[in-house]
Amino acid sequence: MAVKRTGKGKDDQVGYVTKKCPECYAYVKMEAEVCPYCKTKIGKVGPHGMAVRKVDWKSYLTFGVALVALVIYLWWAFFSK
Ligand SMILES: [Zn+2]
Repeated sequence: MAVKRTGKGKDDQVGYVTKKCPECYAYVKMEAEVCPYCKTKIGKVGPHGMAVRKVDWKSYLTFGVALVALVIYLWWAFFSK
């Protein structure tokens, strides 16, 4: 009976028990939705064991609104004199 040993440690197990954070490349739990190291929102595991980056529409929207407000402010500051 041959026991196949290809390596040492958990990384060689069949199937993933961890996924890799796309932001800081740390291994995080499979069920984690936020990376505990860099606080990036992460989704399901993709190919190569890398977690899919979750699109955070709320922060995009907040950023967009802030940008528009800034542009309006700049426009007002320069052209209302
Ligand atoms: Zn991370």
